[in-house]
Amino acid sequence: MQEAHAAAQAVPPRVGHWAPNAYICGTRGITVGRGGRRRGAAGEPRTVTEDRTKGLDVAHIARRVGQFPGYPLANIPRRKRELIAAGVDVIDVGAGDPVEPPPRVASEALTEALRDPAMSKYGFQLGLPAFREAVVRYHQRRFGTAFDPMAEVLPLIGSKEGLAHFALATTNPGDVVIVPEPGYQCYIGGAIASGAEARIAPLRPEADFLIELGELPASVLRRISLVYLNYPNNPTAAIAPRDYLERTVAVCREYGIALAYDNPYVEITYDGYRAPSIFEIEGAREVAVEFHSCSKSFTVTGWRLGWAIGNRELIAALTTVKSYHDTGPFLAVQKAGAALLDHAEDVVAEVRERLTVRRDAAVAALTAAGFEVQSPRATLYLWVPLPEGLKSADFQRMALEEEGVVVMAGSGFGASGEGFFRIALTVGEDRLAEAAERMGRVLARA
Ligand code: PMP
Repeated sequence: MQEAHAAAQAVPPRVGHWAPNAYICGTRGITVGRGGRRRGAAGEPRTVTEDRTKGLDVAHIARRVGQFPGYPLANIPRRKRELIAAGVDVIDVGAGDPVEPPPRVASEALTEALRDPAMSKYGFQLGLPAFREAVVRYHQRRFGTAFDPMAEVLPLIGSKEGLAHFALATTNPGDVVIVPEPGYQCYIGGAIASGAEARIAPLRPEADFLIELGELPASVLRRISLVYLNYPNNPTAAIAPRDYLERTVAVCREYGIALAYDNPYVEITYDGYRAPSIFEIEGAREVAVEFHSCSKSFTVTGWRLGWAIGNRELIAALTTVKSYHDTGPFLAVQKAGAALLDHAEDVVAEVRERLTVRRDAAVAALTAAGFEVQSPRATLYLWVPLPEGLKSADFQRMALEEEGVVVMAGSGFGASGEGFFRIALTVGEDRLAEAAERMGRVLARA
């Protein structure tokens, strides 16, 4: 664990080590600024550039667009559609998007809310007070923590946007943001958009995939304004022991670092493990905002509903930023979210039961197929090591093109994810077993 973090390194200006699919959505082929200034139709000056490859004028593209690493899921949906159209029986265990419908309590609440014209109005950042109150009730029941629904909670259009916007609310250009790698992409996205310096903190198996902030030099710690942490972790499925959270919160308090604790998998746990909220840790309220999501716990990924909760100044800052970017989640969805949260225990018990069966089936089938995989205690992912020398992007490509199985290459989560691939427990046991068998064939051929 000692060196785990000593190694946190600055991302070069163009995030060059994000191979292999970096710059998929970058500016290659577009000559920024070459077209010079031209007059727009209304006589306004407008900067245009020329796409050399197509000879078309395109709007001016900001340099930061080229700094975003390629988004790992960017090309998969299109290729999947093509394969299905060609008659391939595709098994998609790539994105964490379960096949199950939303829980009935949620669909019924949403249907009813749609009949109320008030639910079709702008929600603004206030949103539906009933949703804020249901969030607070849930935290009280589940974690024993008390919050002010108006000042310490903020509805989110899914937790992703909140996490990315949080960097805009907490960092100044040039500040350091700690970005775990492999990790969920919106952390580095937020850091880049805010002009901060993203410092990659590798999550290593030998350090139990934990980031030890205390091992960073004080000179670096003083420059950090924001740390993203996510346990139970996507993609590694790692969990954080309580003493780890305590020492992390202590470092954040000592150096005045904002802590974005990303907790969308808090309910997806197995074998009696109960994942904590960061606010169970003393002092966390001084520095932290926790991000929650209805997506995975409640099987409503596309509804786009989550919430931020925690330190009131940080929540106020995030509210200000979001006021200029969006107008909050659909009120009817917030209404349904409130119903879901009031039934959270029942709903997640079912989800957990289903996922436990899948996890066990997938681990057994992958082991039989020749993979060495550990059974996770949380999340809906298996983080599977590949044999030495087999690149995860190659494995991803072969699994899809040769066997019709969508998986996520570890390198898609950043260079430190190389040597692994991720599968999501989003399909039934039979399909998981079939996917494992097909992946075993890829492994045998590679
Ligand atoms: N954080 C992590 C770690 C995730 O894996 C995801 C979804 N894949 C999110 C945040 C975002 O979830 P949502 O925007 O659907 O709430």
